[in-house]
Amino acid sequence: MAIGFLMMTDYQREIQAKAREIMERMLPFDELRRREDLNGGVGEFPKDVQLEFMKADLFAINMTPKYGGKGKGFVDRTALYEAISYTDPGFAFGFRGLGDKFDAIADSHLPEDEKHKWAAKFLETKNPEVVGGSFCLTEPQAGSDATRIETEAVYDKGNDEWIINGEKCLINNSDICSYMTVFAWTDKTVSAGKGVTAFLVEKDRAGVTVLPPVKKMGLKLENVGGFKFENVRVPSTHIIGELGGGFKSAMGKLDVDRAENVSFCLGAAQSAVDFCKKFANERQAFGKYIVQHEGVGFAIAEMEMKLQTARALLFQAMEAGDRGMNLGTALSIGTKWYGIQMCVEVAQDCIDILGGRGTLCDYPLEKVYRDLRAFPAMGGTPLIAKRTIAKTFTEKH
Ligand SMILES: Cc1cc2nc3c(=O)[nH]c(=O)nc-3n(C[C@H](O)[C@H](O)[C@H](O)COP(=O)(O)OP(=O)(O)OC[C@H]3O[C@@H](n4cnc5c(N)ncnc54)[C@H](O)[C@@H]3O)c2cc1C
Repeated sequence: MAIGFLMMTDYQREIQAKAREIMERMLPFDELRRREDLNGGVGEFPKDVQLEFMKADLFAINMTPKYGGKGKGFVDRTALYEAISYTDPGFAFGFRGLGDKFDAIADSHLPEDEKHKWAAKFLETKNPEVVGGSFCLTEPQAGSDATRIETEAVYDKGNDEWIINGEKCLINNSDICSYMTVFAWTDKTVSAGKGVTAFLVEKDRAGVTVLPPVKKMGLKLENVGGFKFENVRVPSTHIIGELGGGFKSAMGKLDVDRAENVSFCLGAAQSAVDFCKKFANERQAFGKYIVQHEGVGFAIAEMEMKLQTARALLFQAMEAGDRGMNLGTALSIGTKWYGIQMCVEVAQDCIDILGGRGTLCDYPLEKVYRDLRAFPAMGGTPLIAKRTIAKTFTEKH
């Protein structure tokens, strides 16, 4: 079996082939290892690889044609992310993060000519500066329970501006983004569903401090850091969507994002299985290739079907998104939890099949495992996933 869905279009096959070629050329195994070790092991987002994807017309493929984008769908994008993640899910995750944030600009109240200026910068391929956004919801005291955020925006009527104060952490692409979507209370007298608003904040505004990226066990080719906002002023045009509608839009956006995370894990897990198959067909023990021992051959067969199950769930979620259906939080978070769980289990089983070599850094599997372990917590932990699904059938007792 191979990466990608059974029912892929010619376009999806084509972008997968291009993505694989760029990743294999730019980030061969030794180069990946070298880049993981940069900055004392924090790692670094590879802007040069990003630029290759931009030149190949593969950046932000879902951006709306109104602003010069291709307007491709969710299934297209997941096909692309799976192919990139076959080499490195960290880069794929950072790449998605930058590319899908044009929505923040499009949904803001900026004048149209300013939106078009941003769009031109966003798609510029000659200038190596990477332009993209980040999504700032999580705070030191507020993760799963996002209603606990403390960041606040106060209206200055005289200047028609909002003054933002607060702190965000665990933010993907905080170091390289050009602007942020910042969630802040605008009315603390009502519930978060009505009192939290999303703001577009350019990174170079006075009062924004970028906190350094944190060191993680995996996904070293994307960085996660934080921001401090101290009396940061933004005009009212920087409200994204409706005043007080931030929470609703955050949750809607997360529904797609979190299910889509399965694509990163699938690419990485499939690369581990493919490596494992090769290894099992070359390594001998007790007079046979180890793949001929049922314990090994059957284990790999199970892995393949786990990945196909995860892929089918992902495809269902993305196809629903493409048809404009409301995925719903339970199905979205369930797809994410179950799909990622399958991929993590597969990576772990692959390590076992390699015997003593499974965890050696000269082999690719320990990296796959380290990378995959970061995904279960993102966009809702496994416990929150089960809690959300259980709520759909728990009656008032
Ligand atoms: C690599 C990475 C990238 C990220 N990128 C972003 C980003 O770009 N933007 C952003 O805003 N955030 C981002 N996050 C943050 C992520 O969304 C949070 O880590 C996640 O929501 C969990 O929050 P927390 O870490 O604060 O854990 P907590 O909410 O503190 O949870 C701790 C534990 O308590 C459990 N728990 C909590 N409530 C319940 C309950 N009701 N029932 C049972 N168990 C419960 C959880 O399951 C977990 O095991 C990122 C995280 C990572 C690791």
